[in-house]
Amino acid sequence: MRDPRYDILFEPMQIGPVVAKNRFYQVPHCNGGGYRDPSAAAAMRGIKSEGGWGVIFTEQCEMHHTSEITPFIELRLWEDKDIPQLRRMSEKMKSNGALAGIQLAYSGINGPNLYTKEVPLAPTALPIRTFTNDPVQARALDKQDIKNLRRWFVNAAKRSKEAGFDLICLYGAHGFGIFQHFLSRATNQRTDEYGGSLENRSRFAREVIADMRDTVGDTIGISLRVSLDETIGELGFSNAEVRDFIEMNKNLPDIWDLAQGTWEDCSGPSRFKEEAAQYELVRGIHDFTDKPIVGVGRFTSPDVMVKQIKSGVLDFIGCARPSIADPFLPKKVEEGRIEDIRECIGCNICITGDMTMSISRCTQNPTFMEEWRKGWHPEKMNEKGDSNTVLIVGAGPAGLEAARALSVRGYEVALAEATTELGGRLAHERKLPGLSAWGRVVDYRQYQLSQMPNAEIYFDSELKADEILEFGFENICIATGAKWRRDGVARQHVVPMPIEEGAKIFTPDDLMKGNMPTGHVVVFDDDHYYMGGVLAELLAKNGCQVTLVTPSAYVSDWTLNTLEQHAIHKRLVEAGVDIRLNRGVIAIEAGRVQTNCIYVDQVTPIECDATVLVTSRLENNNIFTELKAREAEWADHGIKSVEIIGDANAPGPIAWATYAGHRYARELDMPDIGDALPFRREITELAAE
Ligand code: ADP
Ligand code: SF4
Repeated sequence: MRDPRYDILFEPMQIGPVVAKNRFYQVPHCNGGGYRDPSAAAAMRGIKSEGGWGVIFTEQCEMHHTSEITPFIELRLWEDKDIPQLRRMSEKMKSNGALAGIQLAYSGINGPNLYTKEVPLAPTALPIRTFTNDPVQARALDKQDIKNLRRWFVNAAKRSKEAGFDLICLYGAHGFGIFQHFLSRATNQRTDEYGGSLENRSRFAREVIADMRDTVGDTIGISLRVSLDETIGELGFSNAEVRDFIEMNKNLPDIWDLAQGTWEDCSGPSRFKEEAAQYELVRGIHDFTDKPIVGVGRFTSPDVMVKQIKSGVLDFIGCARPSIADPFLPKKVEEGRIEDIRECIGCNICITGDMTMSISRCTQNPTFMEEWRKGWHPEKMNEKGDSNTVLIVGAGPAGLEAARALSVRGYEVALAEATTELGGRLAHERKLPGLSAWGRVVDYRQYQLSQMPNAEIYFDSELKADEILEFGFENICIATGAKWRRDGVARQHVVPMPIEEGAKIFTPDDLMKGNMPTGHVVVFDDDHYYMGGVLAELLAKNGCQVTLVTPSAYVSDWTLNTLEQHAIHKRLVEAGVDIRLNRGVIAIEAGRVQTNCIYVDQVTPIECDATVLVTSRLENNNIFTELKAREAEWADHGIKSVEIIGDANAPGPIAWATYAGHRYARELDMPDIGDALPFRREITELAAE
């Protein structure tokens, strides 16, 4: 059972009129589903209640139609019609004794109102500040607007109460909520009683909180979420000013929710931010207030959590990503199952679901957002089917997750791996600069498999189709991964590019296996996720002169979705990497590459000693193809099914591979659903015409 060291994490805590059963506090986090997938989002929160969280929040909920952030998909509370879907969510949150919280957002200078076509309102008239430079400006709120806005908050609070929430979080962090827009001199340049001095800039927050107390304060606890540092220098809401603000407004909300400046800072990936990275920014703030403080820091270790509390820095352990990677984190601590915690790796794939307006995934927890759509539970598998044995070939993320989940389901699992290490691509990628935490994908599954009597791992076992046929397993799962291409095929070149004999070409696989170029190296990145940037960093560290060429307008451009693109560009500039954007490579010769402008016919050579091609990957699917060709022989060998999953099927990010492994494990022996949709969805109910 629970280690007494962790007892402190399970103390009940008062938040205004309500009591949280423990200190595990799931702070608001997006999921890419929002108003489009209300039951999927509600079920996801319900699983966290089952997992033991004391407080569970919604994602940001747009509280009035005059401020919304389309195309991003969050929640809405614009009229009474929105209440039932939010009530479904609060009921799920409370199903196992958690407090249900709603985050009310008025996006102000951050909301372009592309859907409602309303003129955005903000403390000061300025262009909308969001990810996409929309050609839209906000009008400054006049006094009547401010009165209206206060009333809209009151209306939203009443609706929140009707929807069953115990807590309201007023959003003023990450540069996204109107409370911060009022507090920061950068976005509040008013000369009336709402602008100028800190006292004046705090006025709006004070007024709204007083209104909230009058309206719902007897039953609902009020949280104010503010940035710890806007990180734009003196003009912004700096850490020093945050401290002054809290000192001045000591016990204003029932709980202070302190979150680092921009979202990129707050949800920093593990490549750039350690666990508890915000410690110094929060330290000492408690001296100014008697109210509890919640803060985040990608906390996965209960020892680090305890330290935050014992040192008087935090009262609640705020988690977004750790609660996604393991919704049962509190339960596992409570039951003394620390080894079973599925630790967040800090890859930010979850955030890409919001950024791409799709639906979120998690690299570590493939069941995330599939709790309702597919009925997947993060801790329980469906019942075993008719067959008994499975051979999985390849122990990368896909094979490992398939093996883990199938063994939990009760199958006899054999996992054959060609090398002497588990992890596949991750065995190498975890050694790249900044990516060591990604190794948790392997470590978690390795430990879980070691606990299963019905799972065996065979190393040094590079299997051929003949052997696989001979073994006599009923089900064969090919998870043999992929390798980086050497011919330049990706997006600029859909057929092999001209490469002169004698040109020194390297692939990411070469570098990861220690075969490193020297001298001046051109990295051609036509992959656009993290690999090109990471390898440029690695080469610079190794003393190479590095030129990064990419047809994109951004270095590692897909990492805009993982919130790390800025940090990657900065790191490469600091490492001395010469960055050439909007350029392709049309030919590689011995001693130089010919680069081209992607807009006009302008070719420029770059003299170099070697070229690293970060382009695309080729599936290792030979065994599968051969087994398929010999389908007639399967029955004689007792084989019922042969499937291919993960990168061997179609290369993608690691989260795609763990998802594929999990899906295979869930669907083995399940009835064929034919042309039916393999998940549940909700569609808008048609109004009467
Ligand atoms: P994924 O991301 O889909 O899991 P990886 O490339 O990470 O794919 O992992 C594939 C794993 O499969 C690697 O560890 C590789 O060594 C292993 N592998 C490839 N071919 C064979 C084979 N014929 N027999 C056994 N293991 C193999
Ligand atoms: Fe953590 Fe990555 Fe999962 Fe997000 S997707 S919760 S960052 S492991």
